[in-house]
Amino acid sequence: MHTNNDLRNFFIVANARFFDNRIDPSYTIAFKRMRNDGEHIPTTKTILINSDFKKHGDMAFIVVLHEMAHADLHGYIGYEDKTGRGNGHGMRYQAKLDELYKLGAYDGLL
Ligand SMILES: [Zn+2]
Repeated sequence: MHTNNDLRNFFIVANARFFDNRIDPSYTIAFKRMRNDGEHIPTTKTILINSDFKKHGDMAFIVVLHEMAHADLHGYIGYEDKTGRGNGHGMRYQAKLDELYKLGAYDGLL
C-alpha cells in the first residue's frame, strides 16, 4: 500500500532527476477518492492521485509523473492545463512525455 508520504518522496526524487527541480517544492501531493486517474490544480499547487492506485504499485508513480509533466509545462511555458476535459495533452505535452521517457523516468516502472 502506498501512502501520501510515498507520493511525496517520489515527487522530490523525480523533480530533482527529471525536472531540474523546476516544479515548486511546496506542491501538495495526495491520494484522493476521485473519478479521474489524477489531477493537477495549478491555482493551489496540488497534485491529486486517485486513491485506487494505493494498492496498484507503480501505477501511482506513473500518474504522478503524468501530473508533474502538466505542472512543469504550466510553470515554465504557461501551457494550458485543462485536466479531465481532454485538453492539455497536445503536442508539447507529448514531447514532454517523450523527454521524460528518454531521461529514464519510466525505468523500472514500465
Ligand atoms: Zn493529463
